[in-house]
Amino acid sequence: MQGLNSPETANEDDEKKLTIVDDEATENCLNPVGPLREGAELCRLHLGDERYVVLKSFKGVMQAHIRQFELGPKGPFPTSKGVALNLEKWKKLEEMYAEDIDLSVTNFDKNDENIDCKIHLGSNYYVSVKKPIARVDIRRWFLPLDSDVIVPTKKGISLTFKQWSYLKNSMAVVRQLVSKELDETVYCEQSNDHLNQMGYLACSNCNPNGYMY
Ligand SMILES: [Zn+2]
Repeated sequence: MQGLNSPETANEDDEKKLTIVDDEATENCLNPVGPLREGAELCRLHLGDERYVVLKSFKGVMQAHIRQFELGPKGPFPTSKGVALNLEKWKKLEEMYAEDIDLSVTNFDKNDENIDCKIHLGSNYYVSVKKPIARVDIRRWFLPLDSDVIVPTKKGISLTFKQWSYLKNSMAVVRQLVSKELDETVYCEQSNDHLNQMGYLACSNCNPNGYMY
């Protein structure tokens, strides 16, 4: 992927965006770095309870981590608890599904049976809200052998509704930091080789377990 993680393609506007003043006193502190390095954090946005949205590239692929940190002697450090979403999944969450999740969150306390939602982000990643647990769960699932029902893995994070609201706030910052990459990101199901249903069905991102749910 070309763009902000590739210094030779970064233009002056990109540079300007990234030289946001680092203010450690603010809870949602931005730590933009420049020149951009592989693995360097473009931002670390606090969601509460030492959970952060961290934008950084791994092997040249930009990922948005929603991750639990722990406090150590040198400050917060990332744990394995959380998810790393590529920009396609992040964009889907932001553009296509945040409103649906909001609807479930807003109506959670109402006596309505239909608030449960389970939204497919691609491969085996799902966002779900399911009564009676007041959380927005973002998680990798998997299909056990000899089963036709996917089950949740430990790779994920369950956000309180407040943390979900902060996650939504973080989307505007992420959008600003990687606007070019997000604009260039095409939803897998809209790519050319998915124009016929066979292409879609053969795609491990769109149809990860060989059939539809
Ligand atoms: Zn696909």
